[in-house]
Amino acid sequence: MKTNTASDRTLEPVLDRLEALGALKVLKSRFKHSGFRPGQADVVAAALEGQDVLAVMPTGAGKSLTYQLPAVVHSGVTVVVSPLIALMKDQVESLRAKGISASMLNSSQTPEESKTVLANLKSLSLLYVAPERLRSKDLLEPLKRLGVQRLVVDEAHCVSSWGHDFRPDFLRLGELRRALGSPPVSALTATATRHVQDDIVRVLEMDTDALRIVTGFDRPNLAYRVVRVPGEQAKLEALRLLLEKSTKPGLIYVGTRKEAEELAGLCTAWGLRASYYHGARTPAERDGVQNAFMNGKLEVVVATNAFGMGVDKSNVRFVVHYRLPGTIEAFYQEAGRAGRDGKPSRCVLLYDSKDRQLQEHFIQSMIPSELELRRVWAYLHAARDDQNRISVRRVNLDKNLQLPGAKISVVLSNLNLQGALELQTSSAGMLVAQISETVPEFDMTALETYRAHRTALLEEMLEFARSKRCRRRLILAYFGEDVSWESCGSCDVCKPPAEALAPWERLALEGLFEVAGLGTDRLIDAWIGVQARGRKPEPNPETRFPNWSRDELLALLDWLEERDWITGANTKPCLTDAGHAALEAKTMVEVSDDPLERFRAGESMVNLALALNVSVKDLEKQFLKHLERKEMQLEELVSLEHQTRIRVLAEDLGYSPLAPLREALPGITDLEILAVRTVDDG
Ligand code: ADP
Ligand code: ZN
Repeated sequence: MKTNTASDRTLEPVLDRLEALGALKVLKSRFKHSGFRPGQADVVAAALEGQDVLAVMPTGAGKSLTYQLPAVVHSGVTVVVSPLIALMKDQVESLRAKGISASMLNSSQTPEESKTVLANLKSLSLLYVAPERLRSKDLLEPLKRLGVQRLVVDEAHCVSSWGHDFRPDFLRLGELRRALGSPPVSALTATATRHVQDDIVRVLEMDTDALRIVTGFDRPNLAYRVVRVPGEQAKLEALRLLLEKSTKPGLIYVGTRKEAEELAGLCTAWGLRASYYHGARTPAERDGVQNAFMNGKLEVVVATNAFGMGVDKSNVRFVVHYRLPGTIEAFYQEAGRAGRDGKPSRCVLLYDSKDRQLQEHFIQSMIPSELELRRVWAYLHAARDDQNRISVRRVNLDKNLQLPGAKISVVLSNLNLQGALELQTSSAGMLVAQISETVPEFDMTALETYRAHRTALLEEMLEFARSKRCRRRLILAYFGEDVSWESCGSCDVCKPPAEALAPWERLALEGLFEVAGLGTDRLIDAWIGVQARGRKPEPNPETRFPNWSRDELLALLDWLEERDWITGANTKPCLTDAGHAALEAKTMVEVSDDPLERFRAGESMVNLALALNVSVKDLEKQFLKHLERKEMQLEELVSLEHQTRIRVLAEDLGYSPLAPLREALPGITDLEILAVRTVDDG
């Protein structure tokens, strides 16, 4: 597998290749774009040169162009397999508006419409089809005779049986590709971990030298931060502090519906305009919350993972994860709802090591027992018609079987894998399938594999939370995106918080400093008042730790001992030298307000922007002004090596428009290019 790297790309400028292939002209004349977005040029060039391509790019990155442009340049028909009928229609309409000959075939059409399309295959540049439609002989045969220029698989992650979007039809695409005479393939998706990418390559039988490109996942304006907390009370206090300090609006993701309601109540009590969102609220209530958030009436929404799909609010300034998500991917998707406008935003994970239990429980609850497998099968079997076909609404299924929807999905995939059920569609709304006549043997091994798979993903999430490495890099590594930098300069690892102690740590250490020599039990009595063991105390505002339970304080003392700030957590807690030092350490680093000074002291651009509450772009403009006025040296912004690379290419490509130069200089920022231009032009 060839992973495309910055160096291959600069060796043989991709734009030269595209120019020679006539692609740049089409980009401008047909698509009316002045240049390529990151990653597009490489994928288009590879497609034009007949390579297989796997492109993983976020939604909105411009994946469609990567096959539409080659389809126009080449003669012959490009077949696009897509599971989403609504999107198909939009695509076909927008292509036709550009004068490009495109059509589609799917279940929403009448037989007559479908016949017309089939009669005109020859004249098409692009044909969109639903995956199950591609299988039918009336389409496959003529396509085979005609010859397919390229097969495109959109939403390619649907091939992976472990994904939430698994579409059994996608599993047969490798076979179908062969039936079509093995045309080159483009697989596109916005969401594929390295495992899923491997699945795609395998299922679609992609070439060994296919271009695999993962790009666009980096979100430089997001400052990731993991706050480790000892127990629930610490977590709650950490949240309150965070809310106090953070610019609104923001989102808080929690683990359960009950928690969403409770925390929203607390947020309201803390004086915030807050509400909650979860799957059990009525559609009207959900719309109400969503709208109030969109139009700024709510500052904070506390939500389960049901919230977010289709919520496109650009100025969300923070996303807090109050509970550990089950996968890094879920964390990335949810955290990524912050800062869509490109302005500095925070993504905070509040992590208590006990949070793993909730996720383990969740995985457990998704794995059906053999009895549940049998029940679902029996239900479906009874619902079949005389041709063993089933067609039921998913909501009815969930309701009648009294099982969680997530679990039913797992059962269906499992029955399908076993061959007991042949799923035709299992979209959100309907289940359409062919069921076996006889009772299958229920094989539990696939479910064990599934459990192991989910557990492994959870372990990765836990590793992320505990890691001492740059958070942003870890996330990119998870998706398989390479970046040239080592340290992002904005996450809690690259830029540790100025305050060394959490408030509860300070309280406890100060408490130990004031009264030395008490045994653990007596100490805790003094800190929360005497109370029955195991029971949540009545808050006693007279004490040092009102609201904390005995167990939580024991956990806190253990926590302090782990950090070597105290000894004897369980017998007679006592400050160590390191504990004294931590208490005395200056709490706040004095910071200058002059961005230039702070930049010279080593602060990153993103961080500075965050601290000064301006956009990175504005800050960069300011720095270019400094450069113009010779208040700054070019070397401060651009390394000598980068200066040379920029100047060499600028000779050929010029500085304006910027896009070709930018495209030819992966790993070099716009700021660097603009800085060199400022100096050379001035
Ligand atoms: P994806 O499929 O990756 O979610 P789309 O292909 O739908 O993204 O593209 C998203 C938007 O970006 C579309 O409106 C498209 O016209 C636009 N777009 C794509 N490529 C370019 C480009 N090179 N320059 C400007 N706009 C582009
Ligand atoms: Zn970092």
